Amino acid sequence: MKIKTNALRISMAGAAALAIVAVATSAAIAGASWSYTGSTGPNHWATIDPANYALCADGTAQSPIDIHGTTNKVLTNLKFNYTTSEAGVFNNGHTVEVEPLQNPVETLALGGITYPLLQIHFHAPSEHEVNGLHYPVELHFVHKTTGGKIAVVGVFVKAGKANSAWAPFVNKITTATATAEDTPIELDWAKLLPTNPETVRYDGSLTTPGCSEGVKWNVFTHPITMSQAQINQFLEAYSGNNRPVQPLHGRKIYLDSTLNK
Ligand SMILES: [Zn+2]
Repeated sequence: MKIKTNALRISMAGAAALAIVAVATSAAIAGASWSYTGSTGPNHWATIDPANYALCADGTAQSPIDIHGTTNKVLTNLKFNYTTSEAGVFNNGHTVEVEPLQNPVETLALGGITYPLLQIHFHAPSEHEVNGLHYPVELHFVHKTTGGKIAVVGVFVKAGKANSAWAPFVNKITTATATAEDTPIELDWAKLLPTNPETVRYDGSLTTPGCSEGVKWNVFTHPITMSQAQINQFLEAYSGNNRPVQPLHGRKIYLDSTLNK
């Protein structure tokens, strides 16, 4: 890694110079220095910033996972209080996100907690696997309370019929800039979800550094469809922005067997 080489070379010039370089190095590392390949890829995230990214290597409840061997359980239904509202699309350097511009309007009620929808982004191929297989795209609906509780909803995408609800976002993916307000769109958020409400649920983590745990994961078992042309828009922006699946470490994966959904 280039930064480390420079730091080592300059450290020989004296302690004062080293102190300056150390500050500059930690500032650089606090930026977007992680990636999905090579020396800054998922196997190296923890060493890029050990103070903040240690869980990426040491965590015992990490995401994504391979969904298999599920346990049936009667669970409280996810209740999406989603409306139609304005949204901003932007590229954060690792994926393209869409976020509600008026918050908190779109919310998810789960386990007695109301989680505002923070943003939706994608991974291609999917991060979660189902019996060892990926879908071409996975969408993550990230919900977060002001107290910092996080619930993520995962939606798989398979190739099929074109998806008109997702079109306003999909049409912006390849031209999105780093600033959301540059590209306002309107979304009917509820229509972005699968019609079959069945989910699997487990306790996991963020799938990007610092890999924080305590995340309530809810993954729809039935994918939505998009046309291959729509899927290609995702792939053109980012392909291979998926963290590999992580060990379960004894965690159970619950399949919602609630009747009368
Ligand atoms: Zn994600």
